[in-house]
Amino acid sequence: MKNPLNADVIVVGAGPGGAASAKYCAAAGLKTVLIEKKALPRDKVCTGMIMGNWALDTIREEFGTIPDTIFTSPPELNGHRFYVAGAAVQTLTAHTLLTWRKDLDHWLVACARDAGAVLVSNTRVLRVVAHEDHIRVDLLKDGKKESLSARFVIGADGATSVVRKSILPELQVNYSGPVRVWYQGRLSLDQRYIHWFFPKRLPRPRFNVNHKDGILLLEGAGIKELAREIAETLSPYGFDPDWKPIKKDGCVIALLHRQLLEGDFVPAKGNVLLVGDAAGLILPITFEGIGTALKSGIAAARTIIANAHHGRIAAPEYVSGIQTIIDAIRHLYMDRFHLKGEMDPLKRNLGPDAIAAGLVSAYRETLLLQE
Ligand SMILES: Cc1cc2nc3c(=O)[nH]c(=O)nc-3n(C[C@H](O)[C@H](O)[C@H](O)COP(=O)(O)OP(=O)(O)OC[C@H]3O[C@@H](n4cnc5c(N)ncnc54)[C@H](O)[C@@H]3O)c2cc1C
Repeated sequence: MKNPLNADVIVVGAGPGGAASAKYCAAAGLKTVLIEKKALPRDKVCTGMIMGNWALDTIREEFGTIPDTIFTSPPELNGHRFYVAGAAVQTLTAHTLLTWRKDLDHWLVACARDAGAVLVSNTRVLRVVAHEDHIRVDLLKDGKKESLSARFVIGADGATSVVRKSILPELQVNYSGPVRVWYQGRLSLDQRYIHWFFPKRLPRPRFNVNHKDGILLLEGAGIKELAREIAETLSPYGFDPDWKPIKKDGCVIALLHRQLLEGDFVPAKGNVLLVGDAAGLILPITFEGIGTALKSGIAAARTIIANAHHGRIAAPEYVSGIQTIIDAIRHLYMDRFHLKGEMDPLKRNLGPDAIAAGLVSAYRETLLLQE
């Protein structure tokens, strides 16, 4: 990069949100630099379901046909199955493409590069400093500190966003820490479904089981505390708690819904716009976020393109551009409370079948919201 001060847009983070922003800005002729701290392709702890129409439609409209090589075996799920202790198993049919995030994100970033975005990988953003007419981005690359400047910055750097911390240092964020445990092999559960288990008849703690490319994956924020329940629940399907995992990994989710909905957290300031998980836009209940990352990434890019040639501040227009996502989060967040009430048998005296039906309806609602 010979003239780094002349970038129009710096996008931080090469996940779906960053790839979508970078592709859209570069295709509109803006000089776009996409900075990623890891070497690519990089993995992300995620089930990799392209869930709901926001994700699938946005990918198809903005990136084109997804290459078959991105999909796993099986390439598509028929839907979700719900196992609430004591209730009959419930099935929600929802055809959902299945990927490893390493492959999906790598393809999305390749599309952004084809559109003209300059990728700078293995480079960690340390902080973002807003000046009157430009934003400085401090980086660590090959052990050396450098700075780049641009008129606009998009923070697509995920749940623990450094861009968010730079512009909103006072914001208090709670995190949850899901874990993923990999085993070689499979259970006698239908591989064309993702299986959600609620051993305590509550929305949380929960865990899920899914199969990809001959690997059995157990995922969830409750994996550690549910060790006994996991062994009991899964042993009828062939799970042996003495099996040695081939791998364990984990990540964090920023729990920002309440602040976002109450206006205590506005995911933009001046010409710095936050998208996807950095903006707290992961959906309540299902905790799916690829669709909202893509959609908010494009909303940020559109705002910047519209403001690139005059001096307006981008933040207010961007925040109104993501109002549909915030409205969906509001709706689901209220559902979550309702579901919690429904799922407390002591309060509502509901049987486990009614609890399971409440869960199916909440998941269905999440998917339908996006039509
Ligand atoms: C267990 C689990 C399962 C999930 N399953 C699904 C699912 O099936 N479907 C679904 O839609 N959603 C799912 N989600 C949610 C989904 O993974 C996220 O919502 C989505 O990845 C958000 O995309 P993003 O682009 O905002 O951020 P990310 O995908 O997190 O990308 C952020 C990028 O920024 C980079 N970065 C971070 N900090 C810096 C820095 N300082 N400098 C430079 N680069 C940086 C990171 O390395 C990363 O590449 C799941 C989440 C979890 C935890």
